[in-house]
Amino acid sequence: MKARESFEKEFTGQYRLFAAPGRINLIGEHTDYNEGFVLPASIDKRIYLAIQALDTMRADLVSADLGEKASFLLDDTRPKLPHWALYPFGVVKELQKRGFRPGGFRAAFGGDIPIGSGLSSSAALESAFAVALNALFGLGADQMTLALVGQSAEHHYAGVRCGIMDQFASLFGKKGQVIRLDCRSLEHEFFPLDLEGFELILADTRVKHSLASSAYNERRRQCETGVALIRKHFPAVKSLRDVNREMLAGLENQMEGKVFQRCSYVVEENARVTQTCDALAQGDPDRVGRLMFFSHQGLREQYEVSCPELNLLVETAAKTPGVKGSRMMGGGFGGCTINLVRSNNVQLFQDRIARAFEKDFGHLPLFYQVSTGDGARELTGNEQK
Ligand code: ADP
Ligand code: MG
Repeated sequence: MKARESFEKEFTGQYRLFAAPGRINLIGEHTDYNEGFVLPASIDKRIYLAIQALDTMRADLVSADLGEKASFLLDDTRPKLPHWALYPFGVVKELQKRGFRPGGFRAAFGGDIPIGSGLSSSAALESAFAVALNALFGLGADQMTLALVGQSAEHHYAGVRCGIMDQFASLFGKKGQVIRLDCRSLEHEFFPLDLEGFELILADTRVKHSLASSAYNERRRQCETGVALIRKHFPAVKSLRDVNREMLAGLENQMEGKVFQRCSYVVEENARVTQTCDALAQGDPDRVGRLMFFSHQGLREQYEVSCPELNLLVETAAKTPGVKGSRMMGGGFGGCTINLVRSNNVQLFQDRIARAFEKDFGHLPLFYQVSTGDGARELTGNEQK
């Protein structure tokens, strides 16, 4: 393990080991800021962290993967740091803001989550430090507080206004399960992801179109516009979470076309999360797959956040034997698709996708095979290898 090796090379003395996973989202896209449902799972790709408490108020950090070092003082406010160090710094600051007093530490970390591909390596990094500092200094913060600490670190120090899903999944995830998270109440329920005979394969377009953030803001505004109009007729409605198809259908002729389209997508996608949970509980991967295809169709045609690269991946997947479902994952305009593929057909799937993608876009996509894995925790015994 690189984290271990780096720690031992750089520092001396005893240390403890922690790991925090990245995540996938099976279905439920652009529902989080509409107070709806998402269905993430923590995966078997992680950030590993070797850490030792110091009795000075200083943090010395090594990024094993980038081969870089950084240090800060715990009472610094805006130290000049490389980007990756802003995450642990942000976690320290957000813990302090909530009245927790972590001490100084030395740490080395590294991992196998693809960086910047939408598997939330950033949330894994935050969760790893949050869990480690909580344990190392006996802070007594609960898991939810640690998730909020990670999210705030991301908002205030990395400058990304993310929802809570990523940190939540990294901290609360369980092997073999997806989490249905209610983004309004933060209530959550586990459903078994029993994929005997199937694999989850991510296909990474390796593109990120610049449209992403402006379109994101525009979609949020359009959803708010929709809610404002719906409220005039249904005053109890606070977000699209509270809206169903019938309510929406009755208002179609009063709503601007695009706004209606956006609202329809969100209402239907929320319903698909619930339907996917039913399908999982019944052990029906075919139905899960169909819902994934419908999700993509909605994201492409109604919500309009897909792009040619993602669409080609999904279209090619749909034509490949053994592929049950495929859809874009994440905010859109690039990143990965998530695919539910029969184990025997994985090679065929990758070959076909790679060929079709390279022909149209001139470069190969990347593939990541993922399984579910446990949430952030301290590693013990032979897990420490
Ligand atoms: P994502 O969360 O989708 O992977 P982000 O852009 O949100 O992408 O976060 C990626 C950033 O997180 C990187 O630029 C880096 O600063 C930090 N990071 C993630 N993983 C690592 C790692 N293994 N080593 C160093 N920094 C990392
Ligand atoms: Mg991120």
